[in-house]
Amino acid sequence: MYGRRQASLQTKMPDPQNPPQKMMFQLNLRRRGISDQAVLRTMEAVPRDLFVDPADRADAFRDMALGIACGQTISQPFVVAYMTEQLQLQKSHRVLEIGTGSGYQAAVLSKLCSHVLTIERYRTLADRARARLNELGYDNVEVMAGDGFDVPENVGSFDRIIVTAAMEEIPEALSQRLEPGGILIAPVGPLHGVQTLVRLVRTEGGFDRKQLVDVRFVPALPGIAREL
Ligand code: SAH
Repeated sequence: MYGRRQASLQTKMPDPQNPPQKMMFQLNLRRRGISDQAVLRTMEAVPRDLFVDPADRADAFRDMALGIACGQTISQPFVVAYMTEQLQLQKSHRVLEIGTGSGYQAAVLSKLCSHVLTIERYRTLADRARARLNELGYDNVEVMAGDGFDVPENVGSFDRIIVTAAMEEIPEALSQRLEPGGILIAPVGPLHGVQTLVRLVRTEGGFDRKQLVDVRFVPALPGIAREL
């Protein structure tokens, strides 16, 4: 009896040389300095494997960016967690994301705020992300096919803005969409090189600007994409 029970327990124990990927996923985020418990819990809850290409599912919980349709990428989990943490989200916040891609970052944001509007210049990606987010029950996310350099007036202003594509500079049209006290985070730098994450906080007199860490994002390009 005892022996049998022990044997079955042992088969369930993670092999210390090869712990399950999802456990490593959380450990890596902590090890790299993500400490906000709400962000960590959200990263655990959002199934990244359902946002990557089916062929890449085995790699979904590795800390790496992966290719998606239209030559774009789903960001590295650490960068998603880091940017989310830096936004200091509150449950009441309305958030704007530029660069929907797979919809993964939007899903993470949605669990920590009241509403996410995410804009994507590829219709194919916008449609797929919308369908996926609906299916998974992220019902406070709105996906819009459009141009993040030309956000429609009627969508209003936001408590938080996150740009997930590289920009040479943060357009004023975007920073002006921040509510007072609002935070914007964006990768700023050369479009095809290394960028620096920049965090703007809207103050009474203007903006406080802080440079965070180096990152690599695909470029933000103007206009709705012509191919699909
Ligand atoms: N946040 C995404 C990854 C973004 S990759 C995720 O979680 O999967 C960057 C995305 O920004 C790409 O899909 C790209 O097409 C989009 N993009 C680039 N320029 C844009 C623009 N001007 N407006 C909206 N989306 C843009």
